[in-house]
Amino acid sequence: EFAKTKTIKEQREFLPVYGCREDLMHVIRENQIVVVVGETGSGKTTQMTQYMHEEGYSTFGMVGCTQPRRVAAMSVAKRVSEEMGCELGKEVGYAIRFEDCTGPDTIIKYMTDGVLLRETLREPDLNMYSCIIMDEAHERSLHTDVLFGILKKVVARRRDFKLIVTSATLNAEKFSNFFGSVPVFHIPGRTFPVDILYSKTPVEDYVEAAVKQALTVHLSSGPGDILIFMTGQEEIETVTYTLEERVEQLMSEGTCPPLNVLPIYSQLPSDLQAKIFQDAEDGNRKCIVSTNIAETSLTLDGVMYVIDSGYCKLSVFNPRMGMNALQVFPCAQAAVNQRSGRAGRTGPGTCYRLYTEMAFKHEMLVSTVPEIQRTNLGNVVLLLKSLNVDNLLDFDFMDPPPQENILNSMYSLWILGALDNTGGLTKLGSKMVEFPVDPPLAQMLIKAEETGCSNEMLTVVAMLSVPSVWFRPKDREEESDAAREKFFVPESDHLTLLNVYQQWKNNGYRNDWCNKHFIQGKGLKKGREVRAQLMDIMKQQKIPLVSCGQDWDVCRRSIAAAYFHQAARLKGVGEYVNARNGMPCHLHPSSALYGLGYTPDYVVYHELIMTSKEYMQCVTAVEPHWLAEFGPMFFTLKESHSSMLKSKAKRKEDKAKMEAEMQ
Ligand code: ADP
Ligand code: MG
Repeated sequence: EFAKTKTIKEQREFLPVYGCREDLMHVIRENQIVVVVGETGSGKTTQMTQYMHEEGYSTFGMVGCTQPRRVAAMSVAKRVSEEMGCELGKEVGYAIRFEDCTGPDTIIKYMTDGVLLRETLREPDLNMYSCIIMDEAHERSLHTDVLFGILKKVVARRRDFKLIVTSATLNAEKFSNFFGSVPVFHIPGRTFPVDILYSKTPVEDYVEAAVKQALTVHLSSGPGDILIFMTGQEEIETVTYTLEERVEQLMSEGTCPPLNVLPIYSQLPSDLQAKIFQDAEDGNRKCIVSTNIAETSLTLDGVMYVIDSGYCKLSVFNPRMGMNALQVFPCAQAAVNQRSGRAGRTGPGTCYRLYTEMAFKHEMLVSTVPEIQRTNLGNVVLLLKSLNVDNLLDFDFMDPPPQENILNSMYSLWILGALDNTGGLTKLGSKMVEFPVDPPLAQMLIKAEETGCSNEMLTVVAMLSVPSVWFRPKDREEESDAAREKFFVPESDHLTLLNVYQQWKNNGYRNDWCNKHFIQGKGLKKGREVRAQLMDIMKQQKIPLVSCGQDWDVCRRSIAAAYFHQAARLKGVGEYVNARNGMPCHLHPSSALYGLGYTPDYVVYHELIMTSKEYMQCVTAVEPHWLAEFGPMFFTLKESHSSMLKSKAKRKEDKAKMEAEMQ
């Protein structure tokens, strides 16, 4: 209502932060570092950058604002550009990995914390900024935590530089202490009470339970939008689809008003993301289905009902697998309290918790473990090493990562050849830092010069850095799976991606070609952009682009060289074990390797996903002697291996025979 009838100026002046603007600016003027605390929706993210600009700070550098999430960086920048009446990318812009929407005129720049961290590599004093707002610091994302230590030093070196750290209430004292007892500024809040209703018995399927609860609210509660928290894209799509279907059915029976169901997650195209902020047509009720992005990063007005699954996805280092994996965990109490708070922004609200009060009290941690204490630090170690932090145990971490994590990460980097025996950065390592991708992928790009296919690997890495390009619409699964199979390079999912890209290129990068083959044109286009950016870095690093003319074996050998530490050995049909530690892992049913007609003895994989079991995602069949060549510390060619080589040749023969017979 408010947004429709009031001008932008009136909306800005209505926000709680406006009421204390003078006091806030005074504290900032008097102090180099200030911690700002305020309820979600008080105007911290959208207003403080503008205030800093209006106060004149932008005359000697940009006003930067970091976000742990890309969606937030993009959406807030868009909103602020509208408030300032300028085109996005001009005065107000954003930068996320592989996408820089800023220009020479940019004075307010929103970016992910990862982007700012990389910028410190080029410009350790951040001279292009007059001020940095570290937003959502309570999230304690890995990059934010590293930035804490780096920016503390920048403040000490630059007297003219301002640092503002925003936080939900919980961590403010801790942040203030870390920076040397700096002032904490509280924005007086406006919140309404929220009724919290727990599930009486444990819920078996929270996806189904959420759909049911949303329908009940929609059919029997007064006006107000609904916000549902799920853990990720797949669940969100299921809830969205099921809810739409049931509402449609109820409407046809004549008993149900329309409901606008809107998903939001990080890989959702940005035009669809923007919809969650728009008023539903005809004043229909909105139901937003979200990841924890809507917990504090994005403010949605008009929500009066929250439905909370109580779960979230976290990236956690799994020592048994030796790598990070996204896994679903129960949320922390602090997080679910934020979630319920979202129902009380515009008036009294209700939160339906799809878990018992017992579970809340006894099974949830008080607050989330900071990412730095639970993930592999490969990229961060590499970055800090190149910032000349020789001993990571000496770095000024607010909460230091467990020593075991640091050692594990250093070990993975040593395996890849990025660190030498003394823990120093090698030549390869310092080249790897330049690439904004995970260390194994950076190594793959650099080493592919030697293996003779850097041109092909460039495409593979680009395609692995964008969302999946396969389009699988509901009701047309079979058709789209058949279309997908036509692109299979039977020995490799990596090369299947390369194949899709090549064919798209050969067809003039056409969008109608994508539609015809059930390929997401947007994903490929993004892949092409990423490829161009990575190619620029290769040029700067003087890594020549060499092509093997799509010789699949040369490519597979090169893939083996990058992933030898993620190899698996065949155990049963579609069943593998990690070649180093015997952990079980499985071929995913969508893998191109099923097209081989047999399952290869050795494979390497891009990542593991944990669902009902451990699935290898993006797999390539490799020869055991390649693994022995590239990872001699793990693999020695035993008698059995060479006999396997023989049997492999024999199997190829068998397969050829079989195919001949079939034709
Ligand atoms: P905080 O950072 O304190 O949580 P914000 O600055 O994000 O608060 O939000 C302030 C106001 O701006 C809210 O009322 C919110 O609804 C509005 N707002 C923020 N982003 C958008 C957007 N993309 N579209 C429309 N309104 C927005
Ligand atoms: Mg905010």
